[in-house]
Amino acid sequence: MAGPSSTILIVEDELAIVELVRFTLKGAGWDAHAVHTTADAWEYLQHKRPQLILLDWMLPDQSGLKLLARIRADRNFNTLPVIMLTAKGMEEDKVAGLDQGADDYITKPFSPRELTARIKALIRRKTPEHAEMAMSAGSLELDPVSCRVHVNGSQIEIGHAEFKLLKFLLAHPERVFSRAQLLDKVWGDHAVLEERTVDVHILRLRKALGTAESLIQTVRSVGYMLTEK
Ligand code: CA
Repeated sequence: MAGPSSTILIVEDELAIVELVRFTLKGAGWDAHAVHTTADAWEYLQHKRPQLILLDWMLPDQSGLKLLARIRADRNFNTLPVIMLTAKGMEEDKVAGLDQGADDYITKPFSPRELTARIKALIRRKTPEHAEMAMSAGSLELDPVSCRVHVNGSQIEIGHAEFKLLKFLLAHPERVFSRAQLLDKVWGDHAVLEERTVDVHILRLRKALGTAESLIQTVRSVGYMLTEK
């Protein structure tokens, strides 16, 4: 197995998208290797380790989700960053992709700028030394080192659980998480908590955020997300 590379593997059968992605990645300084089926992607992974995989959902031989499951089940690849490319607009599908172990997803059509921003954000997130960096959204700032949260420059009072929840949402902006996912990611695998607990903490978090509460949005029948829109 080769060492870390700057190659991004594109698994996509729509040639127009492959060309757009390839052009965008090269412009941003990455090497790009494109394959059109999950079988070719798996074959590639037997010889080379990409820095990240852009994985389409609908592929000719098999669903991209199937390949994702195979990647996550393999101890050589279970930490490999994967962004799903999806034409599906349904939030439920995105949640399903995240459940299967995707690190992020991008809905087609996407702009070259959005693509490079998401890739950079994911690589940053997967690099441990950046975990202690301050995070922000709108008027809100969170400092993971001092455990302080500021809104419009003023420090707010926030409980421990709400702080953890906010930190997680800030690290994954513009993404919807189900209550079960939040319990799992924020409170840990073995949390013996009910999903309603999440609603209670979201309520407290919004109260603590005051004027910045609109950053936390409810996505009906799915869950919650942090968004600046
Ligand atoms: Ca496709």
